[in-house]
Amino acid sequence: AEASAPALDVRDVSIAFGGMKAVDAMSLVVEAGELLGLIGPNGAGKSTLFNLVAGVLRPDAGTVRLAGHDVGREDASRRIGRGLARTFQIPRPFGGMSVLENMLVAPGGQVGEGLLANFLRSREVARQERQAVERARELLEFLQLSKLAGEDARILSGGQRKLLELGRALMSEPQVLLLDEPAAGVNPALLDFIIERIAEINRSGITVLLIEHNMEMVARLCPRVMVMAAGRRLAEGRTEEITRDPRVVEAYLGG
Ligand code: ADP
Ligand code: MG
Repeated sequence: AEASAPALDVRDVSIAFGGMKAVDAMSLVVEAGELLGLIGPNGAGKSTLFNLVAGVLRPDAGTVRLAGHDVGREDASRRIGRGLARTFQIPRPFGGMSVLENMLVAPGGQVGEGLLANFLRSREVARQERQAVERARELLEFLQLSKLAGEDARILSGGQRKLLELGRALMSEPQVLLLDEPAAGVNPALLDFIIERIAEINRSGITVLLIEHNMEMVARLCPRVMVMAAGRRLAEGRTEEITRDPRVVEAYLGG
């Protein structure tokens, strides 16, 4: 990986489900430090593209590079180890577990689990656990969830679930963060706060690729957007120009 390599470089990636091309020769580059918007009508293939980047799905063709490394043969956990994290469009916090405990089962978290935790409680494991708890508490503070740390995660509102989902993704100290509709189901009172936190995350140096339907959020956060429709790149450019592009307006109205 060269220092100048983009944080994320997706080239000609395709995947079909039962003959239907959900992602069709899609390419996308996110430069290090950028906050790029990814928009498009429902069914455009945006979430599927995230699954391909995260390593949850394997493409039929094309390459995915993280900081210059071709990660095509690496599974999802290896990609987390390379600094990639993602949130899901529909967060499903673990019920019967507290908000803090949910933070600690974040993928890529360093907490010793199962047999390791039970039988090999070495100092190193204990130290890592303390560090993970400390980081989780800091992130809950950052996301204004501290007061709810001990509550069952099921009591969280839609917006608070989105914040917890964001916190869980941040546990692995990512360099590249994929956010799938962080504003969906969020009440207006919390929307400003989520926008501000995403801006702060990006200012801290984390590269962000943001799928979002809320155009206020996209306009406020993303200088540049990529538009997908029917699995393909429809348009790309400065947000204020792209959102006025007749092809883009048509894709939404016609989609
Ligand atoms: P978006 O996130 O842009 O709304 P998706 O990526 O979720 O779109 O879906 C793109 C298309 O792929 C849709 O037609 C969807 O039904 C289909 N699709 C997504 N995931 C699967 C899957 N695992 N199996 C079959 N079809 C899928
Ligand atoms: Mg989606």
